[in-house]
Amino acid sequence: MKTKFNRGRAYHGSGAVTEGKLKGETDTDYFYFFCPRCEDRHVMRLLDYSPHVETSENEYNDQTKSKALKGFTLVFQLHCERCGLEDFVKLSNLGWQSGQLSPTK
Ligand SMILES: [Zn+2]
Repeated sequence: MKTKFNRGRAYHGSGAVTEGKLKGETDTDYFYFFCPRCEDRHVMRLLDYSPHVETSENEYNDQTKSKALKGFTLVFQLHCERCGLEDFVKLSNLGWQSGQLSPTK
């Protein structure tokens, strides 16, 4: 039997990963997250994931040319083997996804 994501405890990304501090890139078509505390683009492990939100509609479809089949938010549990950082990141299509993320300051 699968255990609950994060053993049923709350999960929210910490200040270590917010505001652009969590970065990553692809090699082939796989995406890797780099530990925001370690140097040298140290790759983090993904220990678990879970659907955080799933909806049958996507509220932005009527404002965009492209149409999403549904709405979703997935949460991933990150772990750095080098420094031990444990954190969370979410991928979602339930927010506005067009233009710049953060306008030039
Ligand atoms: Zn680290």
